Amino acid sequence: MPKVQVLPDYIASQIAAGEVVERPSSVVKELVENSIDAGATSISVSVSEGCRTISIADNGHGMLPEDAVLAFQRHATSKLASADDLWRLTSLGFRGEALPSIASVAKVTCYTRLHDAPSGFRIDAQEGKITSTETGCAPGTTMEVVDLFYNVPARLKFLKKASTEFAHIQEIVQSLAIAYPHVAITVEHEGVVHMRTSGSSNWAQVVKEAKLFTGNEALMEVNNHDVSHGVKVRGLVAKPVHFRGDRKAILTMVNNRPVRCPLTYKALEYAYSDLIPRGRHPFAVISIELDPSHVDVNIHPTKKEIKYSQGNEVYMTVQRAIVTALRSLPRPNFAETAPQHDHELSAPAHAAVSTVSLIVESRSNDSQIYTSPDAQIAYARFEQSTQEALPERNSAVAETPARARQLGFRDRLSYNLPTSEQSAESISAKHTSMDPVLFEQTETPARRELPDGWRFLAYLKNTYFLIESSQGLEIVEQHIAHERTIYERLLAAQNEPGRLTELTQHLLISAPLRLSAEQSSCLKENEAVLAKLGFEFEHTADGGSQCTQVPLELAHKNYEAVIQELLDQLITCDHANIILEATKSVACQSAVKNGMTLSDESIISLLCDWIATPRNDTCPHGRPVRMSFSMDKLFQMFHPA
Ligand code: ADP
Ligand code: MG
Repeated sequence: MPKVQVLPDYIASQIAAGEVVERPSSVVKELVENSIDAGATSISVSVSEGCRTISIADNGHGMLPEDAVLAFQRHATSKLASADDLWRLTSLGFRGEALPSIASVAKVTCYTRLHDAPSGFRIDAQEGKITSTETGCAPGTTMEVVDLFYNVPARLKFLKKASTEFAHIQEIVQSLAIAYPHVAITVEHEGVVHMRTSGSSNWAQVVKEAKLFTGNEALMEVNNHDVSHGVKVRGLVAKPVHFRGDRKAILTMVNNRPVRCPLTYKALEYAYSDLIPRGRHPFAVISIELDPSHVDVNIHPTKKEIKYSQGNEVYMTVQRAIVTALRSLPRPNFAETAPQHDHELSAPAHAAVSTVSLIVESRSNDSQIYTSPDAQIAYARFEQSTQEALPERNSAVAETPARARQLGFRDRLSYNLPTSEQSAESISAKHTSMDPVLFEQTETPARRELPDGWRFLAYLKNTYFLIESSQGLEIVEQHIAHERTIYERLLAAQNEPGRLTELTQHLLISAPLRLSAEQSSCLKENEAVLAKLGFEFEHTADGGSQCTQVPLELAHKNYEAVIQELLDQLITCDHANIILEATKSVACQSAVKNGMTLSDESIISLLCDWIATPRNDTCPHGRPVRMSFSMDKLFQMFHPA
């Protein structure tokens, strides 16, 4: 029978290193984290020899020689004294595993000196032997790692090309540089500097220096503090005209630790679901701070994931923070960095901040936090899917403001309405769509004027409005501008008690709806959802249904076709987003079509409403509503370099 024996430390470390030191970027991660924990404000990372030679120099507090020697032993740490300390952690490290693990798979030399010490020490850690000699060196600590994986051929075999390994290193340092914006970090590969952050503490600057964002995005600040649960959310998100096909421009941090945070991804997905195209991801840096006792940081070998004890509260705080940011508008200093041209994966519209934004901004000062009721459903589903225990929902539901005021909402509709008799007649008799233009020829809407700085210039092919703004030229597409306007109006009505009744049209006469069996059962299942939009139905004994009330937008449309299309979409859509999907469908179908002739009055009216609508850069499906050409941009176009 084989004899049981305790492994010597050096071998135990090598086995543990399998988890901690997976590739060169793991070494960089552990060493930069140590430098940050040592209070460094300046860190240089230098990599060469196919990423197998790594040197990290910091100006942190340094170590006494005896501590430095001890630090290379397993489970030696200055960051934890008792198990309870795990729940009070403010440092990035805590296991005391990194240095011995790295030293078990590479040759490590450490130079370290306390700031007030007359000289420093050199500690050599190789093949389980640790020696220390006095030497001259700068205050702080420099770790030199050479011949990484020299004694682990299997690992060496799995190393990728130097450029791939270096890309991983850059990604790791990028996250840490943004999580610690007051620390200046430089990354060099084979003598060439690839990243340099200033340590300015200014996030907008550091996200660009660290190359998470391109620097062309118009950014909005995210800020929310749920005092009762002690959850604080801060960050930056880009306007929805910028997005990517992957999540690489999203960075999430919890108590300053860059981690994967699926809950924040879900909140972002929710907040951007009616702003960017499906399957695309926003640009976002989201930092969550909460009592360390509510986070388990010890669930992942390389600490890339954490676990919340109150996931629901955190989700709601994050989601509200992002949704609120997207409903406000960038501050003027962000506006200055608005793009002249967009990132290749961005929507082609460019996010110039115009006087429009300022008008809406002044109205938005007293805006309430907007949280759609199905945010709760979205989270509940997310929780189920991630198999965390479902927390009590009542508290969060009570916290959610039941109402939200729509910014700049106008009570009058763009198009005049007939009397109820007229409408009943027109709807019941023909079931045909009546376009607002025909309608307006008999009923002239009240004359409205564009806000100061705006001038309507021309109407192109019954589709595009050419407008002069204080910035330059804007081209706006009529269908999607109207679609976003209606969409926001419908959302506001859903969230403001009593508002819905003002925005619906009761039908005096209605005919049975022609629905397939599937459409019919979908209608019955989702009657509550449809009621939120302003629809009401009656059902007959034979299983048929008829519509007795429609959203005002549909009062003169062929509402049966709209309902059929809406039900078809609800049959296939993700149930978690059903209210938003239904709202999108109604908005899209109610909006004027491209090619439909609008009178000048209708155009001005539509534009006035659109200008006063929040989140008006894109349509609910993520298409850009406007193309902006600032005077500078026009100049550049006519005077190419
Ligand atoms: P941990 O970070 O989990 O404590 P490590 O093995 O990474 O474990 O480091 C062991 C100890 O060495 C740390 O607790 C710290 O006291 C010390 N140390 C490591 N790197 C540095 C550094 N760059 N500057 C100062 N002290 C350091
Ligand atoms: Mg460490």
